[in-house]
Formats: sequence, C-alpha cells, structure tokens
Amino acid sequence: MRRISFLVILSTFVSFAQSEDEAMLKKIYDFSLTDSKCYSWLDDLSNKIGHRLSGSTGAAKGVLYTKAELEALGLDRVFLQDVMVPMWVRGKKETGLIIDGETKSIVQVCALGGSVATDKSGLLAEVIEVKSIDELKSLGEDKVKGKIVFYNRPMEPTNIEAFTSYGRCVDQRFYGAMEASKLGAVGTIVRSMNLRLDDFPHTGAQSYGDLPKEKYIPTAAISTNGAELLSKKLKINPKLQFLLRMYCQTFDDVLSHNVIGEIKGSEHPEKIMIVGGHLDSWDLADGSQDDGAGCVQGMAVLETFKKLNYKPKNTIRVVLFMNEENGGRGGKKYEELSKQNNENHIFALESDSGGFTPRGFSFECDENNYSKVLSWKSLFEPYLIHSFVKGHTGSDINPLTSKKMVKVGLKPDSQRYFDYHHAANDTFDGVNKRELELGAATMTSIIYLFDKYGID
Ligand SMILES: [Zn+2]
Repeated sequence: MRRISFLVILSTFVSFAQSEDEAMLKKIYDFSLTDSKCYSWLDDLSNKIGHRLSGSTGAAKGVLYTKAELEALGLDRVFLQDVMVPMWVRGKKETGLIIDGETKSIVQVCALGGSVATDKSGLLAEVIEVKSIDELKSLGEDKVKGKIVFYNRPMEPTNIEAFTSYGRCVDQRFYGAMEASKLGAVGTIVRSMNLRLDDFPHTGAQSYGDLPKEKYIPTAAISTNGAELLSKKLKINPKLQFLLRMYCQTFDDVLSHNVIGEIKGSEHPEKIMIVGGHLDSWDLADGSQDDGAGCVQGMAVLETFKKLNYKPKNTIRVVLFMNEENGGRGGKKYEELSKQNNENHIFALESDSGGFTPRGFSFECDENNYSKVLSWKSLFEPYLIHSFVKGHTGSDINPLTSKKMVKVGLKPDSQRYFDYHHAANDTFDGVNKRELELGAATMTSIIYLFDKYGID
C-alpha cells in the first residue's frame, strides 16, 4: 500500500516536471519565432558588416557590433579575449584558363586560404588528374614533377548526412598542395567541396605542413562545373595546359578577439555552460550560414533567457570564437585562458552547420548524460527534433578538455549546406528566418534542460 502511494507520488512528480518542461519549451519556441532579434542581428552582420575573415576590418567590426548588442541585452558580464590571428588577403580575383591548343576556356577558381600567389604572369603547366592523395603517391615523382595536380574526387551523393561526404573528400583540399609539392608539382587545383554542379569555387583551409617556405606551391579550388569540364578535356587531350593567376598574400599576425557575454548562475556560478559559433568567415561572401547563423543563435540563447526572465542555475556564456576558418586560434585561446583561470566548464554547445531547419544534436559525452538526453526526446517531438546521435560537435569547442563535460553540436538539415559553404553565395538571402529561429529555440531548449537537471 505504502509502495503504491510512493509510486503515485513519484509519477505525479515526474509528470509535473514533464509538463513544466513542456510549457517552458513552448515558451522558448514561441519567443524565438516571434520576438527574437537573431534574424536582424544576422542581417546587420551580413549586410552592414560583410565578410569577417580573420584580421580584416569586417572581423574587427563584427567584434564591436556583437559586443555592443550583447551589452544591450543587459547581461551580467560582456568582455573580449585577445587572440592573435593570421592575416591572409586574397587580393584581385583569380584567373583560371584551360588552354587546349587554340581553344581557351575560362573556369571559375579561387585561392585556398593561406596559399601563396602565382607569379604575376601566372602559372602555366600541364595537368595531372587524380582522385586521391594515395593515387598521387602511386604515380610518383616522374609523372607529377612540373605539373599542376588536379584533385577531382567528388563528394559522394549517397550519404544522407552531407557532412559525411565532406569529411571523406576534404583531405584533398587540406593536404593536397603539401603532398603534391613533395613530388615536385608546381601547383594544385581541387574540385570544390560541393554536391551540386555550379560555377562557384569554394575556398577553405589548407596546410603546407612543415614544408620549407620555398616548397609552398599555389593551390586553388575550381568550381564543380569547371572540374567536370577540365576532366572531360583531359581525357581527350592529356597534354592541355592550365593557366592559374592568384594574387594572395600572408601578412604578420594581428590582434583580434573572442567576444563573450554571460548570465551568472543563481546556484552554481562557478559551473560554466557555453554556447556559440565562430564570428570569422571566409572572404568570398558574408558567411551568413558559416557561421553568422551560429553566432546569432548563440546570442539568442542568452536573449531568450533574459526576456523570459529565466534565471539559470549555472553560468551561461555565449562565446563568439575568432579564427575558426584559418587557424582555430580563438578556440585554442579560450581553452588556454579557461585553464589559466581555473574555470569549470560543464557544457559546451556549438552551432556551426548552417542556419537550416534543426533536426537534432550530436553529442560527445558519457553514457549517463547520453541516456539523460534520450529521456528528453519526447519533449522535442512537437518541434520535429528527432536526431540525437553521438559524433563530432564543433571545432571551436574541440580544444576544451574538462573531463566531466558534455559537448553538443546543433544538427540542422545538411542537404543544402554545401551549396553555400565557403563560396560567394553564402549570403543573407540563403538563410530562412524561421529555420534560423527554430535552431536558436532548439539550442535554448537543450541548455535549459541541462541547466535544470545538471550534468551527471
Ligand atoms: Zn564554420
């Protein structure tokens, strides 16, 4: 009898907590879809400020703008962290030309981040096409020396998660020039990381590793249409030549900043939960999807708590990281300073997969915390959030090493992300207002639940 009444009390308590959480999530989603400033913040970042490549004036303006907007929210603390960042400048628009006898075909190319320039007159050489770094190595120096290596492995269309296809292709972009240079190549061209055929070349990070500077070779991305054309022409005439002109330059590192705002925890101010994205972008467009969206969504989490008058138990911090794209210095500096200051991070959420319709989250955490998350699944069902998987969460939060910590990545629908990623069309008009707001609400909701129930 006593046992029965205990169970009744317990189940009443559980359902009370459940309905309280349902009500809170409803409030969060309602607020995000009606009153959040996240879309207008993104409008300002994208259209008033523009691209925010590390070291650029846009990046500096982005720091001042987001700091001022966070201050206007009336947070407990808003501050900057100094970060030294690389400064690479693209210069004039690049030229790519296929020269096949008398026929010249213009193709769309762009320098990869950190690349060296070509000579003023350009780099003119024969092309050798490969599908992978392994294939390149199997060809050996004889077949590669003096040529431009053309990496042309497409992203696999059959993966439903587009990031899987990206992960299986991006080695060509990141390590391609370094590996080609070791075999005496004079330059590289890589097929853009894009699932569709179009004329946008997609830039991105690349590394020469520990090659000596005199071994650095120009490296560019070519649009998917350009890659198809070049490959087709090479099959007919393997002796054709490619002319590449690039004007990029690397300058000394410059001072930049991570932007941080926080609400102090009411019960455990020493326990810190962070949320955010990266404030820097590539330079071909304003980076609305990558990662303006993640920044304004992170800001919206604190905005929502303030406006709903929710007092979190733990300290909630938004961090807008600088230099994710070409160095990851902001994330590393954040971790370095958090260690120095003996900070206790229990949770980190990053949004860096675009502002598309949210589908769920990826988690890096232990089994206890993961099963806790799974018990919240039904709370998210009304919002069509259903994917709760383990996996990579975010590059900026990756350096955080606290042992008892939950890391989360927002997982929006990935089908269109690589249409825009690092390309000239990653602009404000590509972001849908409601999709962006739903992402912000989804992030706020998971933080509300972890804040309320704690980290095991
Ligand atoms: Zn990004």
